[in-house]
Parts: sequence; structure tokens; C-alpha cells
Amino acid sequence: MTAVCPTERRWPVDIVGCGSADVVWDPDEQMFDCRDCGLFFTVAGLDSQPESERTSP
Ligand SMILES: [Zn+2]
Repeated sequence: MTAVCPTERRWPVDIVGCGSADVVWDPDEQMFDCRDCGLFFTVAGLDSQPESERTSP
């Protein structure tokens, strides 16, 4: 998965980043961390999968 530091707000409260592709995944925070500006952000769809997409027994 590729991710870039977000430059557009999805929500009014979102912090806008720098657009850098130099981001790392932080498994502890479950967020991406931009190494340029230090912004933590999530990616749309990453944690909002439809119920039908989830695996269940
Ligand atoms: Zn950034």
C-alpha cells in the first residue's frame, strides 16, 4: 500500500500535511507517520471496511 501525507481535509478537524511520500506505518498507533512534517494520519478505507468485507467464521 502506498500512502502520502495528506494535503486535503477529509473532515474540518483534519490536519493538513505536506504531501510527502516519506511516510512510515506505525503498527502500535495503527497510523502512518510522516517523516517530513511529523503528521500522524490514517488512510481512508483503512479502518472503515464494510461489514461484508470482514472475515468472520
Ligand atoms: Zn507530511
